[in-house]
Order: sequence, then C-alpha cells, then structure tokens
Amino acid sequence: MIKTNLNTCYKTANYFNKMFFEIPRKHINFILVDIPEWGNFCEGHDGDVWIEMGKTYPNYNLFKNVLVHELVHMYQWLYPDPVDKEDHGPSFFKWNKHLTEHGVVLEETY
Ligand SMILES: [Zn+2]
Repeated sequence: MIKTNLNTCYKTANYFNKMFFEIPRKHINFILVDIPEWGNFCEGHDGDVWIEMGKTYPNYNLFKNVLVHELVHMYQWLYPDPVDKEDHGPSFFKWNKHLTEHGVVLEETY
C-alpha cells in the first residue's frame, strides 16, 4: 500500500505529459479524495478541469496507470477526436502502443 500526495501526482503527470501529451500546464490540476474508483477526470461548469486521485493505492504501478489514464481523458477533452466520441474507444487506446514501452498499461477499468 502506498500513500499518495500532490507532489507525487504533479511529478508523475509532468513526466508523462512532457513525453506524450504536452497538455498546457494550467490544465493539470490534482485533488486527493477518498474514492473507490481510483481516479476521475472532472470538468467544472466554468471550463476548469482537474483530476481526482485517491489517497492510497495498493502499489505505485496502479497509481501511475490510473494517473496516466486520466491524463488521456484530459487530452481527449482538450483535443476531441472528430469521429470517436467514446471515452474508451480508439482515441483512448491508441496511446497504449507508446505507453506500454514506458511501463504504463491503459485499461478501461482498474
Ligand atoms: Zn476512463
């Protein structure tokens, strides 16, 4: 079991964001919450976005996989695919090819 903190969230996000997504930093916001679903990409009424992450995970790999999963949703929000409107469709899983080379596995649910 690992405990998360915001610093670890931002560090991990910045690492993968630089390598893959290049989402403008102003969008990358985290809050830590008690959630059973492990992670959420959230959009506010005023166009703000943020990622909710859990306070604990069974291991670092799961934390990393969930965090990158939510970054992909942030990318989809920022750059909507003109054809694929599904959350976990081709525009989601196209990232797996590159991410698996860096130890991240995308899944629909964890
Ligand atoms: Zn998802």
